[in-house]
Amino acid sequence: MKRRIDTLLVHASELVTPAPELDGPARGAQLDRLTVVPDGALAVDAGRVVAIGTTAELLDRFDADDVVDANHRLVSPAFVDPHTHLLHGGSRHDEWQGKVLERAVPGIDAGIRTTIAATRAATDAELTERALADLDEALAHGTTVLEAKTGYGLSPEAEIRLLGLTRSLAHPVHVPATYLGAHTVPAEYLERRAEYVQSVLDTLPGIAATADFCDIACDPVSFTVEESRRIAERARDLGLALKFHADQTGDVGGTQLAVEFGAVSVDHLDEASDAALKALAASETVGVVFPGANFHLLDMTASLLPDGRPPKDLAAWADRVLRSGAALALSTDYNPGTAPSLSMQMVMQLAARLYRWSYAQVWHMATLNAAAALGLQDTRGSLAPGKSADFVVWSVRGHGEVVHRFGTNLADRVYAGGRLVAAAGRRLPGTGAATPPSPAL
Ligand SMILES: [Zn+2]
Repeated sequence: MKRRIDTLLVHASELVTPAPELDGPARGAQLDRLTVVPDGALAVDAGRVVAIGTTAELLDRFDADDVVDANHRLVSPAFVDPHTHLLHGGSRHDEWQGKVLERAVPGIDAGIRTTIAATRAATDAELTERALADLDEALAHGTTVLEAKTGYGLSPEAEIRLLGLTRSLAHPVHVPATYLGAHTVPAEYLERRAEYVQSVLDTLPGIAATADFCDIACDPVSFTVEESRRIAERARDLGLALKFHADQTGDVGGTQLAVEFGAVSVDHLDEASDAALKALAASETVGVVFPGANFHLLDMTASLLPDGRPPKDLAAWADRVLRSGAALALSTDYNPGTAPSLSMQMVMQLAARLYRWSYAQVWHMATLNAAAALGLQDTRGSLAPGKSADFVVWSVRGHGEVVHRFGTNLADRVYAGGRLVAAAGRRLPGTGAATPPSPAL
């Protein structure tokens, strides 16, 4: 007796996924072991994955209301993008020409303040309209979960406004919301840092029920370890899960602090010491890295600082980070200054080229490991039974082709919660609301 299900996808040239039995992020040798099923099939019911196997196997086991032919093209889990600054006003393309191409303006924190001014000046409707258009673009490129941070308001009222706008986005992309009041010290508080830290502490109780995460930038250009620790303690006491920006422009011990507090992720790691990587590898915290930012800043993040350090050897850095054994994820770091791209395809392509990471490694890091960087490894990031049926039918046949090619959108059809939500580079009409059962996951 065959089991009746909603949807059976058949004839994938390859059905590729992190091993369904992996219940946490892949690390070490696990990163090399993608599950690849030739002539693959995927059984979906009530928005969830029921089974994967060969087309012959699943046609034997299931009767489907809807049989979808993948036409001998690649099928994969959809991407999870675990670190974006989605809601913002303005563009920083003028600054980029001067700062990066002409290397004229030092200080990467100055740019954040430009975006803060533009975001504060934008209306709610303008910010929402832009965020929805950006989510459409991410979805059409294969992303169905995209974390969004505040951090361009930097007053209690402005941060609460951004958090509320993030929560109100009705879109098939699932958007975990992160409070990043501790992004940088706003200009008006430069001489009164302690007051700004206190205002973040005072804001936390009011946002604890609304935000999924509290993020803290612990870095030489943002908050000290002591300041970060105070904020982390208060957030933890309120039951908020923690994320950190750390070691982007220098090593002040941010990664160790993130590990000490059991943060879900610690993001950047550009200047992480061996001791930091060792602590990270021994923990459950996921390290998130951003080849798009490295690429966009022409490897010059450090050289933009006043002390003018030379560009680093990215491949050597990436090798050291990978060999540490830490769980690693990829993300766009989408923001208008250092990483203006929403494509996780591009992120995998850049990780392979700049970091020399393999096809299997970058696929793990953009799916299951990226889900783990949001604590969503039980519901997203692989085609495992019971998980949300978020997957992509590609315009190419092999998972390596998605990494090998670059510069065009290779995602053909994107499904969220078992529902077709984007095709041929566009979100489908009538898919504006979140896809059940995604919000419950
Ligand atoms: Zn960031």
